[in-house]
Amino acid sequence: MREYNTENGKLVCVTCNRCGKQLEVENGILMEGCFHSDWMFGYFSKRDREKHAFDLCEECYDKMIGEFQIPPEIITVTELL
Ligand SMILES: [Zn+2]
Repeated sequence: MREYNTENGKLVCVTCNRCGKQLEVENGILMEGCFHSDWMFGYFSKRDREKHAFDLCEECYDKMIGEFQIPPEIITVTELL
């Protein structure tokens, strides 16, 4: 869950939706690892047009993917755009 300053739009707070841990934010910049999802389900979904947004700390992300039958595809990006 993310909270932004309504006056300047700066990020002020990121909280893990799973465990409630408050992640470190300094001057509008998230200072630790976080999995952010902002997804809108499409026409063929029973959640058509529902937008789901949440954040997970790295520990909760690891727990989530630990429950997968097939691990996520992981690529190390060497060139940042
Ligand atoms: Zn967490």
